[in-house]
Amino acid sequence: KVRVRFAPSPTGPLHLGGVRTALYDYLFAKNQGGEFVLRIEDTDTARYVEGAEDYIEEALEWCGIIPDESPKKGGKFAPYRQSERRNIYDKYTEQILKTDYAYIAFDTAEELDTIRAEYEAKGDVFSYDNKTRNRLRNSLSLSEEEVQKLLDEKTPYVVRFKMPVDRTLGLVDIIRGNSAVNTDVLDDKVLVKNDGMPTYHFANIIDDHEMEISHVIRGEEWLPSLGLHILLYEAMGWEAPQFAHLSLILKPEGKGKLSKRDGDKFGFPVFPLNFTDPATGNISKGYRESGYLPEAFINMVALLGWSPADDKEILTLEEMTKEFDLNKVHKAGARFSKEKSEWFNHQYIQKTSDEDLMNILKNSDLNLNIEDEKLLKIIHLMKERATFPKDIYENGKFFFEAPTSYDEKASKKAWNDETSSLLTEFAENLNSLNDFISENIKQNLHDFAESKGLGMGKVMMPLRLALVGELKGPDVPDILELIGKEESIARISNAVN
Ligand code: GLU
Repeated sequence: KVRVRFAPSPTGPLHLGGVRTALYDYLFAKNQGGEFVLRIEDTDTARYVEGAEDYIEEALEWCGIIPDESPKKGGKFAPYRQSERRNIYDKYTEQILKTDYAYIAFDTAEELDTIRAEYEAKGDVFSYDNKTRNRLRNSLSLSEEEVQKLLDEKTPYVVRFKMPVDRTLGLVDIIRGNSAVNTDVLDDKVLVKNDGMPTYHFANIIDDHEMEISHVIRGEEWLPSLGLHILLYEAMGWEAPQFAHLSLILKPEGKGKLSKRDGDKFGFPVFPLNFTDPATGNISKGYRESGYLPEAFINMVALLGWSPADDKEILTLEEMTKEFDLNKVHKAGARFSKEKSEWFNHQYIQKTSDEDLMNILKNSDLNLNIEDEKLLKIIHLMKERATFPKDIYENGKFFFEAPTSYDEKASKKAWNDETSSLLTEFAENLNSLNDFISENIKQNLHDFAESKGLGMGKVMMPLRLALVGELKGPDVPDILELIGKEESIARISNAVN
């Protein structure tokens, strides 16, 4: 049975990379008819950030990446928050200490700092490993009596992994293929801290085992830990899950990891939702608040590192689920593009119904004083050019309010000595029009221009300027119909005076 987990640490808001990991976890699990689990890895209390867990859950929900099991939802392997699983870890701490893969170490932080400084003074780097562990204070270097004495005195200790000497480990990764690492380059990582809480590495493999996780799909920053994890499974006598490490999301320039600063520099969010840092009160901008539709957002994120068959670009979550294939996930990093993410949003705005767009606009902070029927028509006319829902309002402001000034360049182009009297006469025409709909207006405009021996443009251009204030917007008859007879005539008379 395929079971995949997303295991974020609540050390801050989820970023683009995290969303992509969660999405691939989800897509793979669902594609395989399996389950998707959300587990919160909060054993590192020093890095805990208030509100981060709620943020992660809300962000996943907004994206439509809904876990089958999670801290809030529960599930048969509950609890799903590591801080609540201490009793489970205690049992396995005891177990691993009985093997030859772990030992206890009494070195204090100060002692380790001193040793580190000694090494550095010689231009070396200190590492707690099979070459140094014998001169440090642990159950491998001390006699049994000494160890017992320290324990009786309640001396604080940590549990460390005893990295085997000179073993070559084969690493298998679904995306990256096979590689190898020699254990001599790995150190004796702390598995359990002196407060009895396991570190990430130990808690992570215990939970993956306990929760029957079949595939671990995570960011490539965890690749250097894979050797240790494989050995931890071996130490516990457990079968390891399969692994897939995702490549980085790269800066828009294509080099280096995408960072929060790139977002500021190029003006795009790197977080799914706004996040207020509880320490500083600073707000990081989110895709949701910036006007992205969740469907467009996850479609964009999914294609950062995966190409569906025949290079289709627009896919719903359901379609992605059907097509997702870990073997088609790219080994190379995926370059983020602000333009591309906007392109996705534009595409999804076109796919969104006028009614849904109306609801989005009405629920935004825009103060739209207009009947639904009119608003729907404006949306229909304006959505083609919108990247964000609010563009419909911003590019169509003239529907909501009369222009207060006229673009100078456009005035020079559109206006001459005869224009005022021409438009005044046309306004009278409009006034006598019974059915004030675009089609009739168009016919009228046409007849009017013909009777004056003028091309349509000669009337249309100044008319547009009078109604809009500049030479932009949809077809003039459509604008006239929507603004309505009275307001149209008022705007014309304003412009000619
Ligand atoms: N808690 C780790 C993180 O925050 C999880 C890594 C993993 O998936 O094993 O990224």
